[in-house]
Order: sequence, then C-alpha cells, then structure tokens
Amino acid sequence: MDLKTYQIDITGIVMGVGFRPFLFNLARKHQLTGKVLNRGNAGVRLVLQGSDKTLDKFIEDIKIEKPPISYIENINVKEIEYGNIIETLSIEKSEDGRGVSLTLPPDIAMCDDCLKDMRDPSLPKYYNYPFVACAVCGPRYTTVKELPYDRERTTMKIFPFCTEAKPKSCISEYSDFNNRRFHAQTFACSECGPHYQLYDNSKIQIKSNSIEEILTKSAQVINKGGILAVKGIGGVHLVCLATDSDVISKIRIRKGKRKNKPFAVMIPNLDLIEDHFLISHKEREIISSFRRPIVLLEKRRNIAEIISENVAPGLNNVGFMLPYSGIHHLLFDFIGSKPLVYTSGNKSYIPMAIENDEIFKQLENLADYFLLHDRPIYQRVDDSVLRVHDNKVKLVRRSRGYVPEYIPLPFKVDIPAAIATGPLLSTTGAILRYNRIFPTQHIGNVTHLETYEFLKDAIFHLKRLLKIKDDEIKYISCDAHPEFITTKYGKELSEDFNVPLYYVAHHYAHSLSLMAENNVQQGERIISITTDGVGYGPDGNIWGGEILNCSYQDFERIGSLDYQPMIGGDRCTKYPARMAASILLNALGVEDASELFTKSKFYRDLEYGKKELTTMIEVFKKAKDDYKRNHIPLT
Ligand SMILES: [Zn+2]
Ligand SMILES: [Zn+2]
Repeated sequence: MDLKTYQIDITGIVMGVGFRPFLFNLARKHQLTGKVLNRGNAGVRLVLQGSDKTLDKFIEDIKIEKPPISYIENINVKEIEYGNIIETLSIEKSEDGRGVSLTLPPDIAMCDDCLKDMRDPSLPKYYNYPFVACAVCGPRYTTVKELPYDRERTTMKIFPFCTEAKPKSCISEYSDFNNRRFHAQTFACSECGPHYQLYDNSKIQIKSNSIEEILTKSAQVINKGGILAVKGIGGVHLVCLATDSDVISKIRIRKGKRKNKPFAVMIPNLDLIEDHFLISHKEREIISSFRRPIVLLEKRRNIAEIISENVAPGLNNVGFMLPYSGIHHLLFDFIGSKPLVYTSGNKSYIPMAIENDEIFKQLENLADYFLLHDRPIYQRVDDSVLRVHDNKVKLVRRSRGYVPEYIPLPFKVDIPAAIATGPLLSTTGAILRYNRIFPTQHIGNVTHLETYEFLKDAIFHLKRLLKIKDDEIKYISCDAHPEFITTKYGKELSEDFNVPLYYVAHHYAHSLSLMAENNVQQGERIISITTDGVGYGPDGNIWGGEILNCSYQDFERIGSLDYQPMIGGDRCTKYPARMAASILLNALGVEDASELFTKSKFYRDLEYGKKELTTMIEVFKKAKDDYKRNHIPLT
C-alpha cells in the first residue's frame, strides 16, 4: 500500500466538546496511525498516515459524525513529507497556538448520559454526585483560565483524578478510548472531585455524613419556606418555592428596592407548566438545549394554580429554565417536582459573589442557609435570558451558554483587534478580532465599583483567551456620553495602548449592532428606529426615541421625539416617574400638572415621595424655559 501522510488543521469550536477523543476514535476505526494535537486557538491538528483513499474517507466522516456541540469552521488538509512509518495512534500533549478565533465552547448543561450515571445506585462514585461530567458536557467558560483547554489550566486543577475508585477510577476512564470520559478535562467523581457543604446563616457548617443528608436538609429549608443560597456553575442563586408568595415577598424585602422585579423560575420538566403557559416548538427546543437559558413564556391562563403571581407581578410572561447542573437535578429529586425561584444571588446593582467568603458576606442578610461547593469559579456568568419572537431568538441578557461565542461581521476587517467598553446600564464590553466580535458576558450597571471591576476583568479575560497581543489593539471605542465611567475607561485604555479612541453615539451604536446581526452589507443603508433611555447625542442633548438613516460609516437623524426636560438629569432614566413628571410639567404647565399630580397621588411613584415632587416643581419653575442654563438636560 502506498502510504501518505496528511496534516489536517481543524478550526471552530473544537475544544471541550469531545472533539479530540472523537477524532482519535474515528482515526482508529479507519486504521490510521499518527497523532492528534490540541493547538489552542489555532484549533486541532492531526498528522495521520494511511492510504489516500482512507484518509479522504476519514475527512468526509469528520464532517458527518462530529460531536453535536462542536462546530467546524474550516478543515485545511495538506500532504506532507514524513520520512518514517508511524506505528501508533496517539493524542499528544497540547501546544500553545494562536488563531483568529476561540475554540472554546460556552458552559454545557449536564448531558443525559451523565444524568443517568448520577442516578445509578450501582455506580457509587457518581451516585448523587453533583459534579458528574464528560467529554461533551459540563462547565467550560467559567472554569478555563487559559488555553489550550486542558485540566491543568482550569479550576479543576486542584482535584487530581483518583486512581482507586470502583468500578473504574477517573484516571482509567480518562485514558480509555472506549470511555465517554476519554480525554475529558473537567470531570471528577465523589472520591476525587469537589463537594457541597451546607452552612447556616452564621457560616457554621451543618454536620452531615453524606450528600443525601445535605440534600435532605436543604430540601427541608426550601419546603418550609426558607431561602437557600446555592452556588452553581457561574455564580450563586437564591432559591425558594415559587408557589409561596410569602417567601417571595421576603426575598423582595431583603433585596430592597425590588418591589416588582420579576424572578426566574426553574422547573424540573416542561410538563409542569404546559397547561398554563404557551410553549412553541422553537421555545421548547431552546429551553431544552445545552445552553439552558431562561426563556420568557407567555401566560395562558390563571397561573396561580402552579406558581405565585408574586413571581412576576403584573407581567404577561414569566422566565423559566430547566436544570443545567447536577445540583439542580438533585435538589428537585429531594424537594419534589415543584417550581422554584432561582434568582441571582446578589445585592442589588452589585455582581454576584463567586468566592465562598464573599458569598457569605454579600448574602448574610438574604439567605437562611448556604449550599456551597469548593470548586473555584473563574469567570462569573449570570443565566442568559431570551424570548422567542417570530420564531427567532431575541436575547435579552447574553451570558451563560452563549459566551464566549462570537458574532461575525458581514464584511472583511483588516484590524487584528480593538476593544469596546460599552455604555453605563446593562453593560457588555466587547473585543473585535478581525471580523469577529466577542462580547463579554452580561456585566450589568457599571455605576458601582464592583461591577466596573467585573467589566474590566471580563474584557481582559477574553483578550487573554484570544491571545491578543497589546500591539494588535488598534483602537478603543466607547459611548459618546462624557460622564459615563466606561467613557473614562475608554480614555484610559486608549492612553495605555496608545491608540485612537472613537466615541460612538448611543443610538447609532444600537443601529450598528442591528445591522451586523441582520447581515447588512457594506455600502447598504438602513432606516432604524431606536427607542432607548439615555444616549448622548452629537448636539449635546440626551437622545431618546430616534429614527436614523445609517450606514456603517455615518448616520443622519431624520426623526425624533420632541425634546423634553429631564429634571434631575440621568436620574430620570433610572426612575421613569421623574421623566413622566418632567414631561407633564413641560406639557401642561405647573398649575395643571400639579392638579394632575394631586389627583393621581403621583408622589407615590417617586423614591422620596411628596418631598421629591415639590423639589422637582421648584426646580422646573426656576428654570423658566431656559433649561440648558439651569443645568436641566433635554431628551
Ligand atoms: Zn456528560
Ligand atoms: Zn474520581
């Protein structure tokens, strides 16, 4: 037989999805010899020997049989001269490579096979063990410190594989090419991996001899109307019964200023809500996908039969998600098939704590008990939130299950890298890498120092994963609002990297992202309608509802809502009642507006009640139509 040697480079999502073991086994099936090598962002490289017919068939089969969550962007094949005959087939140690993309997937919900292992009493190492994972499931983005993706560069490094567990040790599962965990990086078992412990509100560990005891006690806390903090994959949740209005009110009071905020609900399966909520085929598909986002579902009829109205007061929809980590499944096993509130375990406006000490500190007045594990979380991610509209997914909050995926730009970009720092509220930063945009996870309102630090950390983590060198960063972009902390951060970065800073008008930025998402080509123009709170316009006023005629290069404002005074400036964007009062004063005049305020008891909607309303009226009177001179911005 005439032996050929091929070098095959594959890029795409090819790490952490069982791709190397898949390639190894496929090559073995075709009786090829050689090596499989992980090259970080440069993807996977194979050097394989065999007949050209077999090699070609092998390459065809890669495309057909690839693991479900993997994504192949490109397969580059070239024949190379190789002096020797290769006798064996092996997976070689990873190399550090650079490429234009990320080969790492988002965090992946526990797969059905692992769920079976977790519920199998004949497998003591996995039975009721919440951290069961395999080559195609488990945490990824939240655990990886650096690429290439190997256990030593994840937070699982501190849990070396066991060598003794029965019926098979973790090291032997890892080394056996017939095993689902062959070359899986983040799995562990009850003998070698992380563990949960239950603590009371004063950080005292509740004594227990087994995970079953811990889960039984945790279930009691929840079933009796308590609030349990549960550390998961990318952070911590506050969990309680979604059927119990009193405990939900308790969370609202403890969280403060959260009178009507809707809470997400986790359900063990969709059967539980099928009669009360509309679930389309698309919604069913996305809510059950490996991404496991929170999906906003429309109410069908009286939901009080299954969950408290207090979960999402006054809203037509409720956000639901299915369990995605082992602990979620196990809690349902012990609590029963009941809907549970799973809301982010954080104090208002401050990012979730991810270290156990910090979790205690932040949630000491919020949670009654703490169910925490000892596996470090490297990157904090919130649950993603989306709704399906017109059979298309509309992301409301893009985080777990989506980061670090990129958004492709529909045109060529020669710039190797750039950084965008985002706006002020509901912020996301982003990194440009040629024509790919890598948004960070959802960060939140960067008006607090902790959230601002989170933004910086998330941007630089992405930069590190993408192996972007400092001199590859060619510009920084930020919001046009001079007072945003992200604008100041943009200035800092532009000085640090010695590159230009571009200020982008807020509403134009919205239009640009719409264009990229909808594949608008270079040279095309769109008319966009962007109705959004606070955006600093080029005329120095705060823009609100805008109709823009845009291309990727420029925009023209062709329509907008009338300017209105914002008494108290940006406070109006945070407290819509202030904006309403400003508009009413402007439109009706002081006398008529005041009458309306009295009749409607308007002060109740203001944070400081009557006092705030009186002050607003005074400020308005004094301004006497010259708002600018009196420091009242227009919107
Ligand atoms: Zn699995
Ligand atoms: Zn083990």
